[in-house]
Amino acid sequence: MFSQKKTFHIIGGGISGLSAARTIRKKYPQAHIIVYEAASHLGGRCFSLYDKKLQRNIDNATHVVLGANKETKKLLKNQKFFNKVYFWRDKKIHTRFYTELPFILLSVFNTKFKQIAKSLLLSLAFKLCPFLSYQRKIYFSQGDLSENLIKPFLSFANEIKNGWVLQKIETKQNKICQLNFNQGKISIDENDIIISAIDAHSYQQIFQGPKFDFNQIIDIYFRTSVPLTLPNNIPFIGMPDNIADWVFINQDIVAVTISASQDIKLPNDDLARKIWQEIRAVNGLMPAFLPPYRVLRHKRATIKQDSKNQNLRPSSAQTQYQNLFICGDWTMKNYPCCLEGALKSGTRIKKYI
Ligand SMILES: Cc1cc2nc3c(=O)[nH]c(=O)nc-3n(C[C@H](O)[C@H](O)[C@H](O)COP(=O)(O)OP(=O)(O)OC[C@H]3O[C@@H](n4cnc5c(N)ncnc54)[C@H](O)[C@@H]3O)c2cc1C
Repeated sequence: MFSQKKTFHIIGGGISGLSAARTIRKKYPQAHIIVYEAASHLGGRCFSLYDKKLQRNIDNATHVVLGANKETKKLLKNQKFFNKVYFWRDKKIHTRFYTELPFILLSVFNTKFKQIAKSLLLSLAFKLCPFLSYQRKIYFSQGDLSENLIKPFLSFANEIKNGWVLQKIETKQNKICQLNFNQGKISIDENDIIISAIDAHSYQQIFQGPKFDFNQIIDIYFRTSVPLTLPNNIPFIGMPDNIADWVFINQDIVAVTISASQDIKLPNDDLARKIWQEIRAVNGLMPAFLPPYRVLRHKRATIKQDSKNQNLRPSSAQTQYQNLFICGDWTMKNYPCCLEGALKSGTRIKKYI
C-alpha cells in the first residue's frame, strides 16, 4: 500500500490520463497529482475548438458514443442519446442496424471490416455488443466535447502543466529516476509513481514501445447559411456506399466523418465538393454552391486494429519499469480504440498503484 503523500506524475492529458487522475484521487485523497501535457489544451484526440473560418465551436472530430459505452455514458449524464440509426443505401433510407454491421464495425474499429482482428470482434460481441435497444442508442458530440468530457476531470489533479513535452527518461536499475521535459528535468523520488497516458506513437518514441500502424479519420465541417435538414428531420445518417461514412446535423453545422480514410488522396477542396454533393443527394437535390468548410485529417487517429497490431498491444498496465504504468486507448487489448477504452484504462490502474 502506498502512502497518501506520494506524488503521481501523469504524462498525457487526454481522456485516459485524466481518468487516471480521477482514479488516483479516489484511492488516495491526499496524493499529489501532476499532469504533464504536451499541447496547450487538454483532451488529446478529444476536444472542442473555436473555428475562425466557420465562426463556430466544433470538435476536433465528431465523437459517437453508444448506449453500451457505460463509462462514457455516465460522464455524458443528461446529454441526448438518439434512439434509431438511419442508413442511406441505394438512394433509400432504411433502419436495419444488423444488415449494416460490417459498415458499423468499420467505424467502431477505424479499420476495414475484413482486416479487423477476429479476437477483437469476439471480445466486442461479449463486452460491448449492443444487443438491447438502449445499448444501441447513439450520442454524437456537437462542439461540446471539452465541456462534457474534459471539464468534469479538471479538479482531480493538483497541477496541470500544459506545454510540457516529455522527451527522454533516465533510468536506474529497473526504475525511472528522471523525466526530461522540454521545460526542465523532474527527479522522481523513491516512492513516486509515473503513469504514461500518451498515445501509441509517442510511447514508441520515448519508451521504445511497440511500433504500430495507424489509420486515418477525416472530419469535414460545413457551415450552411440556414440549418440543413435530412429527410424526416433525422439528426444523423450512415452512408455505406458513399465517400462520406456518417453525416451529423447540428443546426447550421453539418459534420461528416470518414473512417480508415488513408487511401483518400483528394485535395481538400475536391473532397469537400464531392461530399457536399453526396449530402445534397440524400435530400434529392442537385449539387449547389459549396458552403464554407473545414477539413481535418487525423493521420494517426487510432492504431490499425488488425491482428498484426492487435498482437502488439500490451496485456496489462505494467511495464519493464517498476514505477511506470501505462494507460491509453491502445493499451486496452480487448477494446476498440475509443473513449470507453481510454476511460477504462484510467480506472484499471487502481489495482497497480
Ligand atoms: C478523428 C477521430 C475520431 C474519433 N471518433 C471516436 C468516436 O466516435 N467515438 C469514440 O469513442 N472514440 C473516438 N475516437 C477515439 C478517441 O478520441 C480516443 O480513443 C481517445 O481520445 C484516446 O484518449 P487517450 O487518452 O488514450 O489518448 P490521447 O487522446 O491521444 O491522449 C494522449 C495525450 O498525450 C499527450 N502527449 C503525447 N506525447 C506526449 C509527450 N511526449 N509529453 C507530454 N504529453 C504527450 C498528447 O498531446 C495527448 O494529449 C476518435 C479519435 C479521432 C482522432
